[in-house]
Amino acid sequence: MTERALHWFRNDLRLADNPALAAATESGPVLCLYILDNGSGRRPIGGASRWWLSRSLDALGTALAAKGGRLVLMRGDPAVLLPRVVKEAGIKLVTWNRRYEAAEIALDRTLKEDLSGNGIDVRSFNGHLLNEPWQVTTTTGQPMKVFTPYWRAARQKGEPAVPIPAPGRIRALPLPDSIESMAAPLPNLDLEPRKPDWAGGMRDAWMPGEAGATARLDDFLGSGLAGYAVDRDRPDRAATSRLSPHLHFGEIGPRQIWHALHHARAAGEAAGSEQDAEKFLSEIGWREFSHHLLFHNPELATRNYDQRFDAFPWRPDETALRRWQRGQTGVPLVDAGMRELWTTGWMHNRVRMVVASFLIKHLLQDWRAGEAWFWDTLVDADAANNAASWQWVAGSGADASPYFRIFNPVTQGETHDPKGSYVRQWVPVLAGLSDGDIHQPWKAPEKALREAGVRIGETYPAPLVDLAFGRQRALDAFATIRG
Ligand SMILES: Cc1cc2nc3c(=O)[nH]c(=O)nc-3n(C[C@H](O)[C@H](O)[C@H](O)COP(=O)(O)OP(=O)(O)OC[C@H]3O[C@@H](n4cnc5c(N)ncnc54)[C@H](O)[C@@H]3O)c2cc1C
Repeated sequence: MTERALHWFRNDLRLADNPALAAATESGPVLCLYILDNGSGRRPIGGASRWWLSRSLDALGTALAAKGGRLVLMRGDPAVLLPRVVKEAGIKLVTWNRRYEAAEIALDRTLKEDLSGNGIDVRSFNGHLLNEPWQVTTTTGQPMKVFTPYWRAARQKGEPAVPIPAPGRIRALPLPDSIESMAAPLPNLDLEPRKPDWAGGMRDAWMPGEAGATARLDDFLGSGLAGYAVDRDRPDRAATSRLSPHLHFGEIGPRQIWHALHHARAAGEAAGSEQDAEKFLSEIGWREFSHHLLFHNPELATRNYDQRFDAFPWRPDETALRRWQRGQTGVPLVDAGMRELWTTGWMHNRVRMVVASFLIKHLLQDWRAGEAWFWDTLVDADAANNAASWQWVAGSGADASPYFRIFNPVTQGETHDPKGSYVRQWVPVLAGLSDGDIHQPWKAPEKALREAGVRIGETYPAPLVDLAFGRQRALDAFATIRG
């Protein structure tokens, strides 16, 4: 039977392996809807994410149109808009892929109850994860707290379902004027920065949308996977997939990645070893684990998972926080990372750990201040991955790095950026220093600084904190809460 359907796009901005979209298109003519949520109480997305979203919606609209469909955009509270659209368009089936933030779950639950109560068929699907957060448990049915057993249990569930292809043809549902008048053209959503336009570096670095995601995956499997297990820690090499924003916005799903990886390896098209492939999949596993943690700990972004940290003696310091945000700490690897983030909306994982550790431990700033800055500036800002990772670095999280493990940004630089090329790229004022001096310019001989044109305190800041002093101060602070 043909039924008018509505697919509500959210974190699934793709056509392929989109089970909810497939169910809607199989049912009959479809209204494809995206609502920029500025009314439901969800945490507003950050500036970099808004830029990405705009580009991704543009790509999705084009891809839908090529299949005969149409993406309708609205702005407002989905709790108000969705029931109205369903009613006025005579929709009989509503589909969506599930989300995992507490406010999103609450909204979806309310909507499902309301719409079902009015005789509408509402169907939700898993489009975002290999396993739903409640599907992986301890033997006694409890949520998991440690990554290794989590991932082992997840792997034991077997292969994820084979991805479903994109719909061949989509019939766009003709809309009554009342709905046309609620729709907004993309520029009216006001997602991209104008005055000033700070997104130039992001435009150069990224191609948001499903086609960009697929191209990046193919590229990574063809040439990036080889050596991943070791090189993934090298910010000076393009050795990771850079799929994180594509995954966050659902331009590609983890089932697709899983099967593409296995297919490419079986066909001899992926250059990497078994170890590279396993390491890469285990990073997807961390993404799964973070969603598991968020689902079972809805306040992951705001509350210490380990409540001993509620009594931690943070030293709020707006000036220090601002210098960290701007990449002006005087510690080259930290500044390089923060500038890469500011320019491109992304930062290498190893450097994320270093800058987070520096903020939390050397500067004694509450991890939530760092989480909030990342939320605003990352194109992959993700409620699960960001909060879980910040708590991991802070030592307050599940299966976290112990608080007393304090990254030394100098030795991290010397190990993972041995030639200093990452620092040279993002902190060009230091480019003339030797490989030996570049990670701690404050210790470089006067002559070397002069020849490189570096004047500490003038062309490049002196370190915000003495590293040995900062480390000891952090350990002393931690000693006050250690149970
Ligand atoms: C302080 C801090 C904050 C972070 N905030 C985010 C965030 O907001 N959004 C985000 O997607 N990742 C976050 N991460 C995790 C990680 O840094 C990024 O996922 C990774 O750098 C993305 O690059 P990639 O796609 O090249 O990763 P790859 O190495 O190619 O990994 C493949 C995919 O696995 C997932 N992944 C990799 N590492 C992790 C991890 N540690 N935790 C969870 N998932 C992971 C990502 O989806 C990634 O795209 C954060 C890490 C730290 C230390």
